[in-house]
Amino acid sequence: MIKKTKGLLLVISGPSGAGKGTLASMLLDQDPTFRFSVSVTTRNPRAGEIPDVHYHFVDEQTFDALTASDAFIEYANVHGHRYGTLKSEVTDFLNKGINVLLDIDVQGALMVMERMPDAVSVFVLPPSFRELRDRLEKRNTETGEEIDRRMRNAREEIRFAGDYNYLVVNEAAPQETFKTLKAIVDAEKCRTTRFYVELDD
Ligand code: 5GP
Repeated sequence: MIKKTKGLLLVISGPSGAGKGTLASMLLDQDPTFRFSVSVTTRNPRAGEIPDVHYHFVDEQTFDALTASDAFIEYANVHGHRYGTLKSEVTDFLNKGINVLLDIDVQGALMVMERMPDAVSVFVLPPSFRELRDRLEKRNTETGEEIDRRMRNAREEIRFAGDYNYLVVNEAAPQETFKTLKAIVDAEKCRTTRFYVELDD
């Protein structure tokens, strides 16, 4: 008999527009063993974003209070706004054997890898910088200035891709990239270190 112990903590990062959000949604839709860790942010909701589903949207004071009460596993300033991962979104679930998905930036991911060495980290790369800019422009959710800022950040973030366990290039078809991500996840679920083995007759 084999008993599962802790849930799998999956960290996905990649430049804004690389398609990690789409991959994360596909994973949540197709793998019911995962739950999404809803981050706290000080940025305003975009059209279609639902409070407490996509993010917990808070003001600066609330973010400060959460920081002061040590509520975060990690937090960072990304593209001029603050974002943080709540311990309450992660720890209890992992202890109950539930898998948790974090979609966070490089600074936060490096912190999580240090604090939670069992975490599995995946960096999603766009096929090229040109394609990344095209995707951001087509998405039409950021101003030109914001897109420039995200492109500059992308070049910075990609320098850290080698610190992740896995690298996935998101080519044109997200379904194809998703197969690779799912293969990684399925293999990682089988790691012996995630199981407590009990033998009986
Ligand atoms: P967006 O504003 O486009 O939703 O996200 C901007 C960036 O912030 C993305 O790279 C996203 O992964 C990252 N992000 C979202 N939540 C968190 C978080 O809790 N912590 C950190 N460090 N980054 C986050």
